[in-house]
Amino acid sequence: MQVRATMGLLTPLLADITVDGLSLVGEVTAEELELTEDDAVVSGPLEVSLDLTGVDGLVAVTGVLEGTVIRECVRCLKQYEDPLAFSVRAAFVPEPKSASHHPKRVDPRKARAEVVEADEEEEPDDQYQYQGNHLELAPMLREHIILAAPMQPLCSDECLGLCARCGKNLNEGPCQCAAEPSIPTFRVVQSMKRKTGGSSAS
Ligand SMILES: [Zn+2]
Ligand SMILES: [Zn+2]
Repeated sequence: MQVRATMGLLTPLLADITVDGLSLVGEVTAEELELTEDDAVVSGPLEVSLDLTGVDGLVAVTGVLEGTVIRECVRCLKQYEDPLAFSVRAAFVPEPKSASHHPKRVDPRKARAEVVEADEEEEPDDQYQYQGNHLELAPMLREHIILAAPMQPLCSDECLGLCARCGKNLNEGPCQCAAEPSIPTFRVVQSMKRKTGGSSAS
C-alpha cells in the first residue's frame, strides 16, 4: 500500500501499518516538521520516502530524506546550500500505560532516582513512542535533520576564509595585505618624526 497524500504523511494510522509494510512518499515542509530557524534553515520542501513495517505494535521505519539546508560557513561566514540526503531509521513502540509518568503520585526523591536510572538505561537513540491509533513522524524526522548538521559547516573543504587583517573573503581573490606591508612602514616613519622632535605625532 502506498500513500501519496500530504495529509496523513506524517501521521500514518497504525491500522495501515501491517507486516507487509506501508510506503509513504511525499514532500514535507519545515513548518510541518516544526523546524525552527535555530534548528536548520531549509530551502524548499523536503522529500520523504519511508517504509513502515508493523509487528505486534512495534513499528520499524526505514527510508530516505532529501532536501537542501542553508548553512553559514565557519571560515568565510558566507551562506551556502548544503544538499541533504540521509537514511532514516527509527523504531516506534507504544507508550507504556503505567502511571509512573505522573510525578504527582510519586515521591520527588524517588522520581529523581528514576530519571537517573532512565538516563543510564541503554535505550537505542532511534526509539520513539506513540500514543493512540497513529504515529507522529514529525519529531523523529526533525531530530534526524538536526543531527545531520555538521559541527563546523564549511562551504567547501578548500575554503580560504577571511583575511584576519582586512576581512576580505579570500575565496574571491587575494587581498592587498600580503603585497603591501603598509603598517610596519608607517611605524618607521612615525618613530623618525619623534626623534627629530616633530609635534605632529600625538
Ligand atoms: Zn567558506
Ligand atoms: Zn587582507
